[in-house]
Amino acid sequence: MKKIIIFSIFTLLFGNIAFSQYTVENVPDPKKSGNGFVSDPDNIIGYKNIEIIDSIIREVQDSSKAEIAVVALQSIGDAVPKEFATKLFNFWHIGDAKTDNGLLILLVLDQRRVEFETGYGTELVLPDAKCYEIQQVFMVPLFKEGKYGEGIVTGVRASADILLDKNRDIYFDKHPETTKSISNITLENDNYYDYENSFAENNEFLIFYLSFSASAVLIFLILLTIALFTKDFFIRYQLLRVFRLYIWFILVPVPFVGIYLLVKNLTDKWRDTPRISAKTGKIMHKLSEKDDDKYLEKGQVKEEEIKSVDYDVWVSGIEGDILIQKYKRWFSKYNACPKCKYKTYHKVYDKVIVAATYTTSGKGEKLFKCENCGHSKTVVYTIPKKTRTSSTGSGSSSWSGGSSSWSSGGGSWGGGSSGGGGAGSSW
Ligand SMILES: [Zn+2]
Repeated sequence: MKKIIIFSIFTLLFGNIAFSQYTVENVPDPKKSGNGFVSDPDNIIGYKNIEIIDSIIREVQDSSKAEIAVVALQSIGDAVPKEFATKLFNFWHIGDAKTDNGLLILLVLDQRRVEFETGYGTELVLPDAKCYEIQQVFMVPLFKEGKYGEGIVTGVRASADILLDKNRDIYFDKHPETTKSISNITLENDNYYDYENSFAENNEFLIFYLSFSASAVLIFLILLTIALFTKDFFIRYQLLRVFRLYIWFILVPVPFVGIYLLVKNLTDKWRDTPRISAKTGKIMHKLSEKDDDKYLEKGQVKEEEIKSVDYDVWVSGIEGDILIQKYKRWFSKYNACPKCKYKTYHKVYDKVIVAATYTTSGKGEKLFKCENCGHSKTVVYTIPKKTRTSSTGSGSSSWSGGSSSWSSGGGSWGGGSSGGGGAGSSW
């Protein structure tokens, strides 16, 4: 239950602030918001680099050689970048409908992947192997240094030169080691762009931090108001319980240094405020941790002993007039026992019996035991086969094609479609 509460609060707070996971349908279309060719909703490329990219693409566009779109996204969730690129290309209809001269350059930051998606016409000038070469020579080295905007600029420049038949590619073929100096010439001054990017990143973080703390403070104020209008001190305590967590200190120290201390003070006081017996109307007093044990069941004493739950026992002095209030710990390795129901059940070990390989699955074993009733359970589970991932290391690329036809209007791209041509690289 507590995990659900914490999860809900965090989802609520982060939900609208955190980076979005894009789908093909909701990637911002630059054609709809202006005249540009670049979609950079997460500010990965940076506006200064976008200006350069737009001017290069416009040059290519004016020559009618190709229509280029550039998209940089923080995340597309678990979607495969290549498939995403094909779908987006066909959703926007990049390139001329007759000549199919579209090119889509897609960067997916969290998967560390760049994809080129080409229309049939583009493929003639910019075959898959050439796309891959541009990525490897001009983009991946800069991406590895975190220079995403610069990597895109050089990649677009190289692609444009080939599309415009400037034959610079012959030079690249022969001198791949000179990438670095060429990118420096293109960018003129690296430091200037670094400054721009770090400024943008800091700014983004500040906005994120401010909105997060504002939302948290708002939720706190709402709960505090409800608590102050509640008569029952036990319920008051439970309402503000989540703000007793140290994590607020770490996440948003500025407002929460004060809030944490206030909440700690209030809730401690509420926990100790004398209760009024619902049965007799008498004032009750709280028993010490030692004295309360005789009023608790064996399982409850065990819970107190292992510190998974804390109980307060209130008595009024009248025989049988007892109030027991339960305070669960936020973080405890103990869970409810399936047999006795007390929060005394925990994992003793989790070990690998047979390790998984690339060809066979493995086996693992977990032992759970209850500290109260002694109930225990052994769980044997399967460890899935290891998979080789292409997202680590460099030089790997995917060449898979596979076109899909998305028929949808909208946008003012040329109307082209992709047959799945292009290439991708990871870094
Ligand atoms: Zn048990």
